[in-house]
Amino acid sequence: MIKVFGHLAPDTDTVGSAIIWAWYLNEHTSMDAEPYVLGELNSETNFVLNRWNVDTPRLLENLSEGEEVVVVDTNNPQELPESIENANILQIIDHHKLVGGLSTDTPPEVTMRPVACTATVMHDLMGEKVDSMPESIAGLMLSCILSDTLEFRSPTTTPHDKDVAEKLADKLGVTISEYSKEMFAAKSDISSFTDSGLITLDSKKYDVGGTNFRVSVLETTTPETVLERKAGIVKAIKENIETEHDVDEVLFFIVDILNEEATVLTYNDFTKQVISSSFGVTVEGDTEVLPGIVSRKKQILPSLKI
Ligand code: MN
Ligand code: MN
Repeated sequence: MIKVFGHLAPDTDTVGSAIIWAWYLNEHTSMDAEPYVLGELNSETNFVLNRWNVDTPRLLENLSEGEEVVVVDTNNPQELPESIENANILQIIDHHKLVGGLSTDTPPEVTMRPVACTATVMHDLMGEKVDSMPESIAGLMLSCILSDTLEFRSPTTTPHDKDVAEKLADKLGVTISEYSKEMFAAKSDISSFTDSGLITLDSKKYDVGGTNFRVSVLETTTPETVLERKAGIVKAIKENIETEHDVDEVLFFIVDILNEEATVLTYNDFTKQVISSSFGVTVEGDTEVLPGIVSRKKQILPSLKI
């Protein structure tokens, strides 16, 4: 049984793509596959799985020597369990920059394309087989695209992502604007997460000039509900830095999906300085609004300097 999974701190594209690809391998190849997740799902992903009547994949345990896996929506060993070293990686399907570090014993099939979403890459890999997708799988594919593109607002969106999403929505009889609203409302309900849980919910570790940042993003349609919890979040950030050996500083961005701007917590002198030099602003208070910033991949990470 081939294990198909995406990154730690799973998002809708990582979970949806693992399910889509496991379906494809089972249905259209001689491989037997099962999707897995690497952690607790966010409220948007839970909503999506519910909406399309799909079971939550099992949680991945340690991988043993030679276990066959397919990695989706990342190629970064830092975003995978340490036991990935043991695994026999058969395929990688991704839409992120190549960071290196994964190694294999035999040549893997690697497909990485500059589109907004892993599910879009899978759509293209399937060719005419996309027509055989049941509603549940097509619904997941649509959800992945809307999630990763923030309903086409993110600058990572390509015309092709939009085209694929519109075709799927049409076939499914789903109105994109209405369905996106439901997805984003689900994502904005953070009531079940602790302050510390909010920091790791959607977070990537990123090195800038020797400083190890954890760059956390919270996409929401109601930034005020996050900002109400600011004091608790800052306290949790400090605890996170103390307990995690490979995190020097946490940058916490609240992305307002509808107004297309980010509010970053500038809770100490260092974060004030980093945000000032990275985004060319003068930071005075303990939050800073960055108009137009919605994408960690395309806007936040490439801008970071200290
Ligand atoms: Mn992802
Ligand atoms: Mn993705």
